[in-house]
Amino acid sequence: MAEPTMLIDGQWVPAVDGDTYDRLSPFDGHLVSTYANGDSEDARRGIAAARAAFDAGDWRRAPVQERAAVLRAAAARLRAERDRLARLLAEEIGQPRQAGAVEEAAKALEYYAWVACDRRDQAVTEQRSDAVGIISREPIGVVGVLSAWNAPMSVVHKTAPALAVGCTVVVKPAHMTAGGVLELGRILQEAGLPDGVFNVVTSERANGAVVGHEIAASELVDMVTFTGSTATGRKVMAAAATTGKKVVLELGGQSPNVVFPDVPDLDAAVKAAFDGVMSLGGQACKAGSRLLLHRDIHDEFLARLAPKFGEVRLGDPLEPTTTLGPLVSREQRDRVHGLVRSATDAKVLIGGSYPTEGPLARGWFYEPTLLDDVSPDSPIAQTEVFGPVLSVLRFDDDSQAVEIANGTQYGLAGAVWTADIDRALSFAKRLRSGTVWVNTYRESGLRYLPSGGWDASGIGLERSREGLEEFLLTKSIHIKLRRPS
Ligand code: NAD
Repeated sequence: MAEPTMLIDGQWVPAVDGDTYDRLSPFDGHLVSTYANGDSEDARRGIAAARAAFDAGDWRRAPVQERAAVLRAAAARLRAERDRLARLLAEEIGQPRQAGAVEEAAKALEYYAWVACDRRDQAVTEQRSDAVGIISREPIGVVGVLSAWNAPMSVVHKTAPALAVGCTVVVKPAHMTAGGVLELGRILQEAGLPDGVFNVVTSERANGAVVGHEIAASELVDMVTFTGSTATGRKVMAAAATTGKKVVLELGGQSPNVVFPDVPDLDAAVKAAFDGVMSLGGQACKAGSRLLLHRDIHDEFLARLAPKFGEVRLGDPLEPTTTLGPLVSREQRDRVHGLVRSATDAKVLIGGSYPTEGPLARGWFYEPTLLDDVSPDSPIAQTEVFGPVLSVLRFDDDSQAVEIANGTQYGLAGAVWTADIDRALSFAKRLRSGTVWVNTYRESGLRYLPSGGWDASGIGLERSREGLEEFLLTKSIHIKLRRPS
């Protein structure tokens, strides 16, 4: 078997001390991949390569069309390898049907290539006849990228806009799902990306904290963009503060999905409530894990929703018939179970445990779980669950719905279902949240709206033009003319 390597300065290199680690399948424990186990020294090498590539200037000074062409070529290669990559992702994450994630990544590469070409780098202002002002937008420099395990290909929303505007990057993927990011690095190199522009340092030391901290704290890194939990995000922010570098943090959520009795399409709302929490086994940042039902619609809604939980097919993430795979790790499964067990005053309508015998007992499965009459202040309502667990809470009127919806530390996303446009807009404005859906949940057709969390859910934006702008600094150039024009 080939020696496990990471990508530094265009070369595939082992860890300096030769150490490696294994990723075992969360489904049945078989060996999926072996990766180089980087240490601080490996992180410093990756950072130095990105620094040197940025300072050399070839990439940032290349015409934007050239940078865009590399991203488009990479998108085509991703599509050509879609099935193999989807299989790798499914095995590492544990969830089926990952081809869509590869296609989304290809579309994102093309999107950022287009946006970068479609924007103006400079604007000229002229308020006096003897002076000209230029507002110049320039790449921020070396970007440190720290990503989460649940959606490895989402790293394109950090790396592609950075590359498109001329930055260089050093990425530390989450250790359990590093494969997709390494493959993206290879594909970018093959698509013509110059050496050192995209570096990947893999590591599981202290669950990634050793290399992650090195990148966040480094004086040679100009910005760090992080996706992960709120607790780790705060550590990253503290480390970044030692040099005062810019941070973008995409953190956790515990998002409310609120249904009023005048919901325009009840079946659509039921389906969205189910899909909104089951996608990726609930291990999605915007999972609609709190379902707020108006008292008048509560019983009918649950009567239609509950059968869907019975239709879930647990199994091998590589089997086309599987709809729910195992959670990513034993630790994650035990965390979810601990939260469910703590909900002693709630009614467990369905699920609430995990398989302890039969073939599924080998994996980190959790039963799709429906809890009713969850108290808004209980740990299961207040803590990001990150599992296939839906908590149902009742409310009586608009004000109480807003109060419960806003009643956690998070502010990532939320939805409201109503046929009353005044109620919908009033609710949307009163929700402290970066994203609000009306009569839909996790709408993907509008995904190039910017995405970012409020409060404990993050700082800064991803996706869309606003997400790309995060990788630019503004310079004001004042030019004094000797002769007034
Ligand atoms: P995590 O916080 O454990 O780790 C995130 C990344 O940080 C990993 O690469 C990890 O190795 C690294 N890391 C760990 N300790 C570090 C430290 N001290 N310094 C620097 N880096 C460190 O998160 P996770 O468990 O991988 O991902 C799940 C979390 O991600 C959930 O909370 C989820 O909501 C969040 N998430 C948010 C979004 C979003 O867009 N808001 C998207 C996906 C996931």
